[in-house]
Amino acid sequence: MFRQTEEGRARMLASDREKLAALEPGGTAERPIDVVSSPVIDIRAKAMPCLRCQGEVNLEEQTAEMVDGKSLRLAHLTCVRCGSKRKVWFRITSPLPN
Ligand SMILES: [Zn+2]
Repeated sequence: MFRQTEEGRARMLASDREKLAALEPGGTAERPIDVVSSPVIDIRAKAMPCLRCQGEVNLEEQTAEMVDGKSLRLAHLTCVRCGSKRKVWFRITSPLPN
């Protein structure tokens, strides 16, 4: 049926977007987004639209993760519209000493 085909297409596009997002900064622990402080993570994370519906996201929590000896932050996002979840990696870079 036509309707099912359209939905299948939409799902395929969404999964393509998710694959692309994994290649962008923040998509994996190997490529975290550099920020200067934890409040900046809140702002940056909330500004990232949902990959499925481009809706607004909620930052559920921010967790500290150790990956290969590096201290990273993981932002857990949930779309307010479709409920789709997403994780974005960040790294807090120390400000330069003066
Ligand atoms: Zn969504």
